Amino acid sequence: MKDLRKNRFLIIGSLIIIILLTISLFTIKPHQIERDEYFIKAKALLNDVIEGLVKVRGLAFTNTVDLRVVSIEWVKENWGRRLVEETSREVMIEEEIYKLLFLIPENTSLKKIRIEQSGWILAATIGHEIYIVRDYFELTDEFKVREIFAHELTHVLQSMHFKQPEIKFHDEKQAWNSLIEGDAILTAEMYMKFLNFSLSFKNSSKSFKDPLIEIWLFPYNYGKKFVKKVFEDQGWIGVNNLYLRVPKSTTEIMHPDKYMRAWRFNEIDLDSMKVEGWDRVKVERFGEHFIFVILGTHIPIEIAMKAAEGWIGDKFIYYKKGSDYLFLWRILWECENDSDEFEEAFNRLMSALNGIELSQNYWKMPKQYIYLMKKSFEVLIISSSIELKGLLNELSIHEMMSNPIIFNTLREDG
Ligand SMILES: [Zn+2]
Repeated sequence: MKDLRKNRFLIIGSLIIIILLTISLFTIKPHQIERDEYFIKAKALLNDVIEGLVKVRGLAFTNTVDLRVVSIEWVKENWGRRLVEETSREVMIEEEIYKLLFLIPENTSLKKIRIEQSGWILAATIGHEIYIVRDYFELTDEFKVREIFAHELTHVLQSMHFKQPEIKFHDEKQAWNSLIEGDAILTAEMYMKFLNFSLSFKNSSKSFKDPLIEIWLFPYNYGKKFVKKVFEDQGWIGVNNLYLRVPKSTTEIMHPDKYMRAWRFNEIDLDSMKVEGWDRVKVERFGEHFIFVILGTHIPIEIAMKAAEGWIGDKFIYYKKGSDYLFLWRILWECENDSDEFEEAFNRLMSALNGIELSQNYWKMPKQYIYLMKKSFEVLIISSSIELKGLLNELSIHEMMSNPIIFNTLREDG
């Protein structure tokens, strides 16, 4: 875990890890730590930031904001280990899928990484409560403290004024997080400007080394740029309006112009494909950014980025039968050129991973067989622990590929 530890300091140094924790954490609350000097000083600063932030962001606090001080051990135990235990089945399935998609090596434990990640939390917000982790959160750097409080308080304002949409898939979760994190980063930046303190944000580079960190930090890196673009064009009213028409895909975050011109992705149907005798374990929409990360983990970033662009929808279904597994992943592209580009990049990915090409677009990997099928604007990837030849006949693949895709006529909030 040497690398992770190194990354942790890098991240804490260059980017503030501020997590908006999910509602499931409501039940886990710390014992109230005594109101010592540290607490009193932090609370006074928090109150001062509240006052300034109302002027900057133009939204009122409709309730009191509580401050809680916790230790890193407490965070690791409650938001790390206990939370991971509670969701251990989901984490296990996620780990299996990540391995099948070549994101993490065979010997990686996602559970361990999730617990480790909880140890990176510097501050967090749950509803109207702000948590600070005493071990990292030093009050001596007043500007840093103000910036973090401004960020966390923006999350409190979000919960007071805006409604979180129902979220089913990875792609829309990343898009929603990009909106709230981008808003919080921008608001904190504007608050610091208001104090005549300018922040020098480094632009994130286009390369990445660790796919999980790239996925994890997406809302911060891309969300900031997305919300900033809207703010520059339309001010805070424009930012507030984002909550009335929430972006639902990473594509809208990565290409704000697409969001602006009300571009929308297509819902992809996979249900017409019969997979008898297999249990459906997970249904996902991964989206453009996730596809980019899968490719970019093993092939040059520029090629990966270009290949993922042009995405207009996908649907991933993961099945199990005993110890065997199977996934189907249907991806739709804007034009044939885009699907060609993806096919080419996928071939590169397979050879980078030393896949043995048994026939065209059909590979044998150490633990799975994988087949890519392309038909004009769309691609279907099928992978299983068992040989696909027989399986393909069982599945009504060709039938499905000729079925029309179900187009979204209107987004329900559009
Ligand atoms: Zn945040």
